[in-house]
Amino acid sequence: MKSFAYSPLPGRVVFGAGRLREVAKEAAALGIRRALILCTPEQRALTEQVVSLLADSSSVAVAGIFDKAVMHVPIETVREARALAQEWGADGAITLGGGSTTGLGKAIALASGLPILAIPTTYAGSEMTPIYGITEAGLKTTGRDPKVLPRTVIYDPELTLTLPAGLSITSGINAIAHAVEGLYAPDANPVNSLMAEEGIAALAKALPVLRKDVNDLEARSQALYGAWLCGSVLGQVGMGLHHKLCHTLGGTFNLPHAETHTIVLPHAVAYNQAFAPEAMARVARALGPAKTPNSMNAASAAQGLFDLAADNGAPTSLQSLGLTQADLAHALDLALQNQYPNPRPLEREALQALLQDAFEGTRPTV
Ligand code: NAD
Repeated sequence: MKSFAYSPLPGRVVFGAGRLREVAKEAAALGIRRALILCTPEQRALTEQVVSLLADSSSVAVAGIFDKAVMHVPIETVREARALAQEWGADGAITLGGGSTTGLGKAIALASGLPILAIPTTYAGSEMTPIYGITEAGLKTTGRDPKVLPRTVIYDPELTLTLPAGLSITSGINAIAHAVEGLYAPDANPVNSLMAEEGIAALAKALPVLRKDVNDLEARSQALYGAWLCGSVLGQVGMGLHHKLCHTLGGTFNLPHAETHTIVLPHAVAYNQAFAPEAMARVARALGPAKTPNSMNAASAAQGLFDLAADNGAPTSLQSLGLTQADLAHALDLALQNQYPNPRPLEREALQALLQDAFEGTRPTV
């Protein structure tokens, strides 16, 4: 067996349908007395539920609601939210939403150290990581700081029932990407790899069910369980080529996060396939047997991931997101700018082919 180091991150997880009801008890356990509630404008109605749950408790008051969370955590939004948190005397933040909302909470915690109680409503997984990102003048800076790791996370699958089918599939495959790269990370360890394989398997089973019925609570629970495991992997081990490419494409060409991950993942996996055979065998095993005629020949991790997206109606080409052929050359240069840990070294020609395949949406051939 390879030698390894394992450093689990601290944090409490409360999981189950209806567990949102425990928000006041969980906030109080973190010492929060005046909570700042964060959400996107679209999820404002959901915060009203939390407000009334807190009102029923005598232990936690609402300091204020900031409903302007947006993609990529712009510094202007961060400054406004930080100032309001101080003005309102908030002693903790409750984030209610996807990765963008959790990200705003992290940006506040980075400066103030305020504890975060995260209530995720997508499968992005940010709630399980000490990674933050803030965008200033078009440049997203990311970093790691234990201060930004949410202290408690409430996973309530009922809150994901409103996530549209399309976003459920792409957000779920975004989660799978964390687990796939975690399996071949240089700092992978047996415990994280168990979580990665279980997370991929839970999502691969749940997503086709959700495509047909977004209200299936058991499939919602399985998907959120998978997202938790995949997010934990992201929080604990380093990511490789796939995350680097998506970061570059998302940041430079303003492509949507979950869709970009969904499109690039099969091609990044095909690129790495021969250089991480054990990890790829685990991915293929977790994806399980083929489910549709289209997937009958799914012989590899890369093909299985492509079919999971294609068979469930997700976008499969960067072209369909509005990227142009001319953008690819710029993306390639950016991807080659810095070396970073990846099973296969970065080779210009092979990377160019990867990007071209992702652009056109061809099924990987490995
Ligand atoms: P998001 O948070 O931007 O949400 C996308 C949209 O879905 C928003 O309009 C939101 O209001 C809506 N939404 C969220 N939950 C919903 C629900 N249950 N029902 C209906 N609508 C809902 O998207 P995301 O994919 O969750 O997060 C993406 C962002 O998170 C990216 O900026 C990414 O960089 C970041 N991220 C960070 C980490 C980390 O560890 N720091 C990890 C993963 C993602």
